Amino acid sequence: MNTASGDRLSPNAIRRVVIVGGGTAGWMTAAALSQHLRHTGVRITVVESSEIGTIGVGEATIPTIRRFYAQLGMTDAEVMTATQASCKLGIRFTGWSGAGSDFIHPFGLYGQDLRGVGFHHYWAKQRQTGDQTPLAAYSLGAALAFGGKFIEPSPTPPSSLSVFDWALHLDASLFAQHLRRYAEASGVERIDARIVDVQLRPEDGFVRAVTLGDGREVEGDLFVDCSGFRGLLIGEALGSAYEDWGQWLACDAAFAVQSENGPGMEPHPYTQVTAHAAGWQWGIPLRHRAGNGLVFSSAHMTDQQALDALMPNLMGKPLMEPRRIGFRPGRRDRAWVKNCVSIGLSAGFLEPLESTSIALIENGIERLKSLFPDKTFAPSIIDEFNDQSAREMERTRDFIILHYWLNGRDEPFWQERREAAIPDTLARKVELWKARGQFVRYRWEMFHPASWLAIYDGFGVLPEQLDPAVEGLDPGQLANSLHQMKASVAETVARTPSHAAFLARLDRPV
Ligand code: FAD
Repeated sequence: MNTASGDRLSPNAIRRVVIVGGGTAGWMTAAALSQHLRHTGVRITVVESSEIGTIGVGEATIPTIRRFYAQLGMTDAEVMTATQASCKLGIRFTGWSGAGSDFIHPFGLYGQDLRGVGFHHYWAKQRQTGDQTPLAAYSLGAALAFGGKFIEPSPTPPSSLSVFDWALHLDASLFAQHLRRYAEASGVERIDARIVDVQLRPEDGFVRAVTLGDGREVEGDLFVDCSGFRGLLIGEALGSAYEDWGQWLACDAAFAVQSENGPGMEPHPYTQVTAHAAGWQWGIPLRHRAGNGLVFSSAHMTDQQALDALMPNLMGKPLMEPRRIGFRPGRRDRAWVKNCVSIGLSAGFLEPLESTSIALIENGIERLKSLFPDKTFAPSIIDEFNDQSAREMERTRDFIILHYWLNGRDEPFWQERREAAIPDTLARKVELWKARGQFVRYRWEMFHPASWLAIYDGFGVLPEQLDPAVEGLDPGQLANSLHQMKASVAETVARTPSHAAFLARLDRPV
């Protein structure tokens, strides 16, 4: 119990945290705060409505998820078993530059730097000689993914050539249940009821309580709004406006459908994202079923056209009727207002092209932990939280826009995306890449240079100028070094067992 060691709190301390919502965001927050605030006497309550339910999608993650649950003391094997998860080494983009185009954005590095100069300069130099070796041949993560192989990365990789990371494809509802069990065992109280009203204190407009359908009130010092798109507290009660990013990201709807895994199909160790006429389709293999969906622009595609594009291309027989989800890309103007912090969909939404939403939840939770307030709610704390959240969302947005802006497809939707204006922050990055093969890394940026390299190369955008130091390496020596890197990656892939074999070991009783 939170209170097991008695009340050690100072008079101004937050004593009662109320988390509104029990989706992925709500239970991740409850689990993490219950662990962080253990033995302090802080009471944590989750109010969720089983009548309303959760969004239930959100099954592809990035590697930070593993660090999130490791902090809670959970192992990979435990979470993978509880959530029917498969392993994910990256995201495979098919058809984004037209028919036949195909590349992987892996969680890992490419090649080795030579004589202090970035690998990609040498690789691009070699390209100029007509060598068409794909970039993926120099990335263990990408090569394993393409080969359907999986091995856990070495904790002490001998060189950057062996550096890769991995994430999970997981069943979102099983994940929420697992976190709920953890949180409840740590003393978190759960109330299953519909919130019908929010009570603000007349003197300062802070949230005092939420009112439940049966008239009960749940009071708190700090409220975390995890109520989903609606933003029950942060938007409806406290009026934080929603900044709409529709001018940059035109997709505004999705159909999601679960399917069987195809007969004899081995789950691939990557998230599949395939471009369609006015959007893209995801394919996420779990162990007991697959997640499928189509994200599209309703201005360019009717619901029927979207379904006609999605349903014949599922990973197996559908297990349900497809569900339509409308959304607005964007973010809350202020993620934290007075005594209410929004985490999850209530704070903003970016389409799941790079599986970033759950990672944004993790970072929101970390931010809340590191800036945890007392009852004075110092404005500097709130401003810092809001600033960091806004910057992180904008950087992530820019990375997603890049995929659309560089596309090479012919349909009107894609032509428009190519011609659309992009944010200045992104334009600056792309210009520098083209001009000198350099990466800009802003603060609160989720994606590393290797991720940007994967996308630039995937869309065939190479730098116009390279580091002049590459000219100092003899062409024969360069070709030889690259050959050795490629051979080393290929050799590791050849002796690695399949992803299916790795998963089968998890299922075997110990
Ligand atoms: P929800 O799941 O909507 O939970 C809201 C909670 O609030 C529920 O418990 C509900 O009962 C409760 N609630 C609401 N109103 C009330 C009320 N009045 N009273 C009481 N309780 C209430 N993310 C990824 O990282 N990877 C992906 O692959 C991915 N794919 C996605 C695909 C689509 C099409 C969409 C739309 C999203 C995707 N996401 C993905 C995002 C991911 O689904 C969400 O970030 C994640 O599920 C968190 O949702 P949430 O908990 O904020 O909201």
